[in-house]
Amino acid sequence: MRPVTPRNVAVIGAGAGGLVAARALRREGHKVVVFEREDKVGGTWVYNPNIDSDPIGIDPSRNVVHSSLYASLRTNLPREVMGCREYPFVATNKTQRDPRRFPGHREVFEYLNDYVSEFGLNELVRFGTEVSHVGLVEEGKWKVRSRIGEDRVDEIYDAVVVCNGHYTEPRIAEIPGIDVWPGKQIHSHNYRVPEPFRDQVVILIGSSASAVDISRDIAAVAREVHIASRSVKKDGTLGKLPGYENMWLHSMKMFMKMVPSYSRMGCADVILHCTGYKYYYPFLDTSGIVAVDDNRVGPLYKHIFPPFLAPGLSFVGLPFKFPPFPLFEFQSKWIAGVLAGRLVLPSPEEMLADVEAFYLTLEASGVPKRYTHNIAAYRISSILKAHSLIGYIDGTYPCPNKFVQDERGAATAQINPEYQIWNTQDQALMTLLNATLSQ
Ligand code: FAD
Repeated sequence: MRPVTPRNVAVIGAGAGGLVAARALRREGHKVVVFEREDKVGGTWVYNPNIDSDPIGIDPSRNVVHSSLYASLRTNLPREVMGCREYPFVATNKTQRDPRRFPGHREVFEYLNDYVSEFGLNELVRFGTEVSHVGLVEEGKWKVRSRIGEDRVDEIYDAVVVCNGHYTEPRIAEIPGIDVWPGKQIHSHNYRVPEPFRDQVVILIGSSASAVDISRDIAAVAREVHIASRSVKKDGTLGKLPGYENMWLHSMKMFMKMVPSYSRMGCADVILHCTGYKYYYPFLDTSGIVAVDDNRVGPLYKHIFPPFLAPGLSFVGLPFKFPPFPLFEFQSKWIAGVLAGRLVLPSPEEMLADVEAFYLTLEASGVPKRYTHNIAAYRISSILKAHSLIGYIDGTYPCPNKFVQDERGAATAQINPEYQIWNTQDQALMTLLNATLSQ
């Protein structure tokens, strides 16, 4: 495939998103530099037993650890769904590897390293190099300021692809009365192992995948675990969770009532916030053209392209509730193709109109701004839809057509021939997707 116009492209981050982007960009003929502030590829999947210097993660001057992984974490997607289309995440019987369908986190780290070796990406990555500033300069080019130790370097690129991840900057629940809370507070970003919670009474806020895993982990050693969940609509304490003698589920409303008395009586030791993360781009200066408002990064056409800055600036990996790696592939191929001039975006005005129409749809359906990048609606009934979305289940990949259950009984997935049918609420996006991926 010959590129129409090869570009100099800076990719920020060598997590899965940055690696997939680097692969797609180079394949299209672009010259790529990947900036990575750590000394390894893998981003989220580089487990770090250390935690931030502020365990709740609100002190802006704290030392930040990038990854939010806890020691016991196993993937919540089966391998068949998680892997890239170009490089399936198949079990290997090499020593020290984890062949399970829902493997432990180390196996994903190994897979990403295999991906790097397979496509020779290591040479593109500048390790230990943090991007501190990205700004538009004349002629539509971008200045990227990076630093290695004390050294600062300014360079000009034709385009910047932002792949810095969005599971590092904690979002905290607003709880009236919390200022008089005498106990500890910690965000799940800084949870690693259950031992510090031995014999403690823990209040855990949230009900996402991490909340489920962490509450089970902690219940094995804690005296009591009380889960407060916003998604529990019924008010009150809903009793013990099945299979546990020391874990209770409460509505958030109930929990709010409990805070003052817990504070007064000091009868709980820790509040653990499993309340998610913020999109955060401290290095990005677009003079307000792209902004984060209540966790909406916008305006972005299809969650990737800022209408008036595209294709020089683009984002990989913003959407959530969707298998990330296949998503990165589709986004990266689209970006690479547009930068080469092989694919054409609508005009800035048309893109903006599309974004505004999308926001109106969200508003009309009562979807809060902070769920803008939740693209679960593009699925039919299963996460595996993503694979039909990118033409994955085409017989070339060993996807079993049967009910799959995690050995822990925690995660399930159904693979069904019907998923081969494209079906989404956004036909325009699908048409583009189809065109992009068939190249
Ligand atoms: P990251 O992996 O976060 O990578 C971003 C990279 O950018 C990092 O290496 C970071 O060091 C670098 N960086 C950031 N800022 C700068 C800067 N200024 N300069 C230079 N480098 C920078 N996904 C799944 O598919 N399956 C799962 O089971 C699953 N479980 C998860 C469990 C948890 C607890 C979390 C937090 C996430 C989970 N995910 C899972 C989602 C996971 O985040 C994605 O799979 C994927 O790792 C995201 O990749 P990314 O490249 O977008 O971001």
